[in-house]
Amino acid sequence: MKNIKKYFYLLTVSAALASCGQTSQPNPEVFSQTPADAASAVNSTEAEQTMSSSTQLTAASTQLNTNDWPVYKEGSSGEDVRTIQRFLKMHLKSASTLAVDGHFGAATERKVKEFQALKGLGADGVVGPTTWSHLLIEVEKGDANLAVQAVNDYFNIGTTIHYTDVTEREVAEFQRAHVSAGLKVTGKVDRWTWKALIAGVPGNRVQLAKAILNNGNITLADTVSYPADASDAIEETAKGLKATTAVWNQPSQFTKVELHLPMLQFMQDLSKKYSFNVTSITGYPYHRKDSNHYKGRGFDIGTINGEKVTESNKALSMAVMRECIAAGANEVLGPSNDPGHKDHVHCGWSPK
Ligand SMILES: [Zn+2]
Repeated sequence: MKNIKKYFYLLTVSAALASCGQTSQPNPEVFSQTPADAASAVNSTEAEQTMSSSTQLTAASTQLNTNDWPVYKEGSSGEDVRTIQRFLKMHLKSASTLAVDGHFGAATERKVKEFQALKGLGADGVVGPTTWSHLLIEVEKGDANLAVQAVNDYFNIGTTIHYTDVTEREVAEFQRAHVSAGLKVTGKVDRWTWKALIAGVPGNRVQLAKAILNNGNITLADTVSYPADASDAIEETAKGLKATTAVWNQPSQFTKVELHLPMLQFMQDLSKKYSFNVTSITGYPYHRKDSNHYKGRGFDIGTINGEKVTESNKALSMAVMRECIAAGANEVLGPSNDPGHKDHVHCGWSPK
């Protein structure tokens, strides 16, 4: 989907903003238009220039450094499809009974077409860059709606519809991690932050993942035919994608999650002092139900400096556990403090 040939077109921020009286937003944006959404391009260009939607994206001469918008259509599934369904329910009264189930079926397609027709877009039922830009609804602290629920879903901090202090901190942390990509640290989910959340941001995370892949002091568990092992998670992240994660107690189900930036940084930093084997990141369906593994916020170390982690070499694992704590991990378990962690060190960064 990300390999689809792109058509770029630019609008200037000044022209678009001047015509609708919005405050100036220094963050630049580039639309990328894909063929799957191209049917609507002719109509949508006009629609966008008339600022018919308060939530649409504007574009500028320089680029916000995100990946291209993902394209979804009937048959698609996953977290982003849940987001589409939530936006549809907010935009369309007639979508009140539409299920937020993450499956882009015939009912979702009908509502997408209805929405596109309402906005004067080509009603092809495909959610590409143009449709995304019209669907987005900006949210901030104090808001309580399905768009907020989608934000909380992305950060794996529950499915409340309330924009809480935790939501605001997570959003700000995300923005801080992507300042170099063009995000401002506001704690609000503006259109640029939405795009970074949905399309993903190459950069720090990608570079760290590449460095980890090429790091001789870090080995990653690689289980043939299992899609959510440590190696898979880092390889996907190195491509600018979310990592595949297991779902608790559901051996055949998988979903996607973004790996926590401080965790990746810690792996790199730790490798300067120790060599180690990462046995799990997003992991397996039998971690604890609310495990940080499923949130992309935890990883396990099974071997340190060539020695397996056991109860008889606690000094070594405790030294690594102290490094985890110093790096901000607040869920640090090993042979020295937990009977369930006799053969590995677990470092997790729970949302604060
Ligand atoms: Zn663990």
